[in-house]
Amino acid sequence: MELQDILFSQGFGPRRVCLGLVQGGHVTVEGAPCTDPYADFPAEGLRFSVEGKPWAYHARAYLMLHKPAGYECSQKPSAWPSIYTLLPAPLRQRPSKGANPGVQAIGRLDQDTTGLLLLSDDGAFIHRMSSPKHHVPKVYEVQAADAVDDRQVRQLLAGVVLDDDPRPVRAAACEATGPHALRLTLTEGKYHQVKRMLAAVGNRVVALHRSRIGKLELPHDLPPGGWRWLTNAELAAAS
Ligand code: URA
Repeated sequence: MELQDILFSQGFGPRRVCLGLVQGGHVTVEGAPCTDPYADFPAEGLRFSVEGKPWAYHARAYLMLHKPAGYECSQKPSAWPSIYTLLPAPLRQRPSKGANPGVQAIGRLDQDTTGLLLLSDDGAFIHRMSSPKHHVPKVYEVQAADAVDDRQVRQLLAGVVLDDDPRPVRAAACEATGPHALRLTLTEGKYHQVKRMLAAVGNRVVALHRSRIGKLELPHDLPPGGWRWLTNAELAAAS
């Protein structure tokens, strides 16, 4: 793949900008300067740097982000900064192509919810992970305002009716993890679902954290606001 196309595909700007970056001597490939925008490289896994910042080529982006509180999962946030500002510019600028969008969050967490968020620019992967038909389980750690009791756990497992649908929604798994804490597994993703389910059993969420999506767990060493590429093993486990 030509170097200018590699830069373009990875989100380093419009083609003329990528051409200028290479011709202007701002790009090294595997440690060596390259000023030929048409130089051909095997793209996958290629390590290069642009203006001194290292990058590795990934044909498609599969990322995890530890969402902090105080960020909106929207490209056009209304009141809080966007989670996309937590990503480096090339990831925010990756071009969309055919059915593949630019990098986007797979599902949303509320502004005040923390935890695991997956992002990708692979349309098929986004669909697989977010479609209700695939029932990907998501695990939430809930801090509740009032004490959690057996009745609440039983009701959440049996199903509660929310205000926008007569069909009950139920937790796939639910256990008390402390006097005011619950671990709740959901296979759907309705708007404010955990908060509304807790309200339906007479309690209230005071803090919400997503610890797992399917087989992917939020790693302990990924700090709030941090992101990283999924490993090949994680991607295989998720898909
Ligand atoms: N349920 C909620 O209520 N909020 C979230 O952010 C996620 C699930």
